[in-house]
Amino acid sequence: MSGKHWKIHKFGGSSLADANCFVRVADIIAGMPDGKIGVVVSAMRGMTDNLLDLSLLAERDDSSCGADLQEIGQRYSATAKELVTGDGLVQLLAQWAQDAKDIEDILQAIAVVKSAPQRTRDIVAGYGEIWSARLLAAYLEQKLGADRAGTWIDARDVVQVRHSELGPTVLWKPSRAAFAGIIDKDFSGIAVITGFIASDEDQLQTTLGRNGSDFSAAIFAALTNADELSIWTDVDGVMSADPKQVPEAQIIDLLSYNEAMELAYFGAKVLHPQTLGPAVDNDIPIIIRNSFDPQHPGTRISADARPAERIKGITAVGGMALINLEGAGMIGVPGTADRLFAALRKADVSVTLISQASSEHSICIAVPADVVGRAKKVIVEAFAAELASGQIQRVEATDAQSIIAVVGDGMAGTPGIAARFFGNLGRAGINVRAIAQGSSERNISAVVDTNDVTRALRAVHSGFYLSAKTLSIGVIGCGTIGGTFLDQMQQQTQRLRKDFDLDLRVRGIARSNHMLLADRRIDLGDWRKDLNASETISDLDAFESHVHADHLPHAVIIDCTADQAIADRYTGWLQRGIHIVTPNKKAFSGDQSYYAALALSAKEGNAHYLYETTVCAALPIIRTIRDLVDTGDRIRSLQGILSGTLAYLFNVYDGSVPFSEILIQAKDSGYTEPDPRDDLSGMDVARKLTILARELGQSIEIGDFPVQNLIAEDLRGLEVDKFLRELPKYDDEMLVLYKEAKDEGKTLRYVARLTEHGEAAVGLEKISVDAPFSNISSTDNIVQFITDRYATNPLVIQGPGAGPEVTAGGVFGDLLKLATFLGNGALQ
Ligand code: ADP
Ligand code: ASP
Ligand code: MG
Repeated sequence: MSGKHWKIHKFGGSSLADANCFVRVADIIAGMPDGKIGVVVSAMRGMTDNLLDLSLLAERDDSSCGADLQEIGQRYSATAKELVTGDGLVQLLAQWAQDAKDIEDILQAIAVVKSAPQRTRDIVAGYGEIWSARLLAAYLEQKLGADRAGTWIDARDVVQVRHSELGPTVLWKPSRAAFAGIIDKDFSGIAVITGFIASDEDQLQTTLGRNGSDFSAAIFAALTNADELSIWTDVDGVMSADPKQVPEAQIIDLLSYNEAMELAYFGAKVLHPQTLGPAVDNDIPIIIRNSFDPQHPGTRISADARPAERIKGITAVGGMALINLEGAGMIGVPGTADRLFAALRKADVSVTLISQASSEHSICIAVPADVVGRAKKVIVEAFAAELASGQIQRVEATDAQSIIAVVGDGMAGTPGIAARFFGNLGRAGINVRAIAQGSSERNISAVVDTNDVTRALRAVHSGFYLSAKTLSIGVIGCGTIGGTFLDQMQQQTQRLRKDFDLDLRVRGIARSNHMLLADRRIDLGDWRKDLNASETISDLDAFESHVHADHLPHAVIIDCTADQAIADRYTGWLQRGIHIVTPNKKAFSGDQSYYAALALSAKEGNAHYLYETTVCAALPIIRTIRDLVDTGDRIRSLQGILSGTLAYLFNVYDGSVPFSEILIQAKDSGYTEPDPRDDLSGMDVARKLTILARELGQSIEIGDFPVQNLIAEDLRGLEVDKFLRELPKYDDEMLVLYKEAKDEGKTLRYVARLTEHGEAAVGLEKISVDAPFSNISSTDNIVQFITDRYATNPLVIQGPGAGPEVTAGGVFGDLLKLATFLGNGALQ
């Protein structure tokens, strides 16, 4: 029956950061059904740190500790004033003033002896919980009335502990007796209880260690035989990794006590490891919940383990050091490990991780960094004889280490977890210094440099939790092609996610002046508006590092510009493992040496670059060449109409309307470059032919082959407008050419040709009206291959070779191809 059994709720410092937080917490409590409610509180966020700093300053006899104490007081009294009025407030402030005097006395005493014993530090540090409890009790009394609220319990009067090597152990008998003496059996209402503080066997104040309020809450849950313990914090529950370090962390709905223990022990600060003891012993379920989102169900930790098919979480604990003991003299000699651990035990050093090479040639241990000096010293002493004789070569300590661990009951007996763990670390380029797997197989740990730990966490997390086809995407250039591509993405993203587990996240869009970056993904429904509103000045270095986020498995930059400056960055991107998809021809048709460097860089960075749309928009020209070559065919020659603009101009031109007029109409319809000479010069076609030649393995550069420029020489240097005005002067020349062709039963076409021997040419040709090249429509491109297999009847690919829709679609197609490679692990 509800109300008969105690329910214990603990609110951590993060839930009690300021007056608003207290209001939120009080609302949560007020909404609970009547009954026996114990509310264990921590100090306000940061308060314990501030109080501990006071003792440190006093030890140094630093006079600023007085001012710091005043600052603490100001924060507390300002919060109290916002919440409590009248006598209640007067009383709170008077008690604070008394406490401040007591603290000052203690600090003075510390300053005199220039040292603060643990007990003294504990007294100062414990005030934070007392102030929180008093304040919350007063506020609840004011809000809910003295019948329901107003009681607060000083845990020092109840909880007795004994300190041992393994931390504080609760003395249950006296604690139970003390609780029974303080709280009536028939109590009903809300009792606020201080977390963190307790008494020791000498009745002196002590603390339960950092984050100890969780432990306090579990102790009170056991003392009251509570049927549930809720730990309220600032995250939705226990997550698959610390969300402050891994933005993609996911909530874990259910955890076994054992799993929770491993996670907590290895650094999941959301739960103090000792908390589990009293809860497990009394089979009390623990619910971790978010005081900022009370509706969220949170994480339930209980005995009924339900192993998931994979790991439950990934944690990291910092502040470690490694000690490595190495020497042939240890091989086959029994008792070495015993001696090592006996020495450490005597020196009061607890060992967090042990790893011994199966050859017994070395033993490696991880210990907290603050005791590494002591640990090394006792080991050197214990093995002095072996060190002197050379049987043990060295005892080496390495600082600044962290342990990263993957945890889950379901790991037991599941092959491949370790491979995936280390595989992900390896791919992220993280050096693993030691490895340990608990025999329970509930945990695999690796020691890494602390500098690498966030990257390591993210890499491992993405390997276990994200679709292998999760791509962090940056788009540079959002004119016609880029813009259309983004719109196409917007329409398809959800379906791709649902049907193919393809998680495409556009996280950056850049144009020449401004860029738009988003941590998770840009809302593509609104990208134009958001980009226009963005005040972030474009900075390609910042853009690159944002897109190349180490918490996502893959990064790809889609270059939708025609810029040389962007193309110049490709080798750098590829080396760093950023994939590239682009319709920009510059990198592939420029310097042969740069073209060669692309392949090398891609190999180095294990990256891919796809550029099908550089030639004939989305028509599968490059793909076809590769398929032919890869399957053993031999391409003898190819010829094609590679420019959609020129195709259009010569399709429409029939001598009736002057060529210059057709050109201006085409320009106005957006079929040409802003300066139509970029099309008429033939350079665009020459670049495309260069790309195709290189696909055939030919070393070829622009300049190596003839390119017919359709612009008369004296028009080449003019401004665009002037050029367009002058162009009609040459209409007659074109008309003559056209008539000549017509008389021969031919049409004019601008054609690119290439043979297997590297003979290349680009220019205007007369083509028989019956030939396929004469029978294309609009902006169609056409490419014809003569190969060993297609010798008498050539292979022809024909279709629209320009236009934003098809080109953007081709870019999208390349992106999907890339995602498929990555999902299949083809690049790994
Ligand atoms: P409180 O003040 O409520 O005791 P803490 O700061 O001690 O809160 O613990 C909550 C914090 O623990 C979260 O804000 C989060 O950054 C951190 N944390 C570390 N690992 C995890 C994890 N695996 N799941 C959830 N939170 C975690
Ligand atoms: N206030 C204490 C600390 O900061 C205890 C706790 O918050 O759990 O360590
Ligand atoms: Mg905590």
